[in-house]
Amino acid sequence: MTDLLDAVQNLTRPTRSKVLQTNTAGIQCLSDVEQLPLLVQLEAAIKSSMGGASTSGASLAFEGSMLNTAALFEAVKIGSQIKSWCRDQKLLPTKNMGTDLDAWYVATLRTEHATEWETWHVKTLSSWAARIRNMLAPPREREHPEACPVCLSGDWWSPRDGLRYLHPLVTYYRLDDEEMLVDNARSLCRACAATWSPRELAFELEAKGRNTEAIM
Ligand SMILES: [Zn+2]
Repeated sequence: MTDLLDAVQNLTRPTRSKVLQTNTAGIQCLSDVEQLPLLVQLEAAIKSSMGGASTSGASLAFEGSMLNTAALFEAVKIGSQIKSWCRDQKLLPTKNMGTDLDAWYVATLRTEHATEWETWHVKTLSSWAARIRNMLAPPREREHPEACPVCLSGDWWSPRDGLRYLHPLVTYYRLDDEEMLVDNARSLCRACAATWSPRELAFELEAKGRNTEAIM
């Protein structure tokens, strides 16, 4: 059962990962950082989304809501699956996914299981780990060089450092198996906080381009 134990602990034990950090001298280095168990991180993401913590600035609030939607959806599915596994093993589920999964693993040791059973569970648990990691990673962003079709701004103020930057239009997206998740991607104007799906923004920019050509 070693593979199954690994797959369980991958979700319920702290993990170490390389994180790019900048020290006070401005030097960047890759550090080995211990991170909370994935299921704990997932539950924290749910709690903060339920609590509606206020963030300053359109782009920050936008990132938060993207994470929350994805995290809630995945957590409901993962949480109910763990509870159902616990009930199969005659265990009463608690409010803590990690505790439940650990208890479930111990309970499974009481009986013999077919290799297919173990393989299926290892695969399922590994896919959860990959999805949670992907979900908790900050979304990738791509800037657009055009001015905003709504407010016509060509620059924006960042609430993080109070500085002015070019290119207010940005698309936030996540990669799943190296493909852009179009359903999850949102485009945002960091000057006026207007949002679009990437397709709507492309359409707006194209329409704007045509109007400009017509005027000239
Ligand atoms: Zn705008």
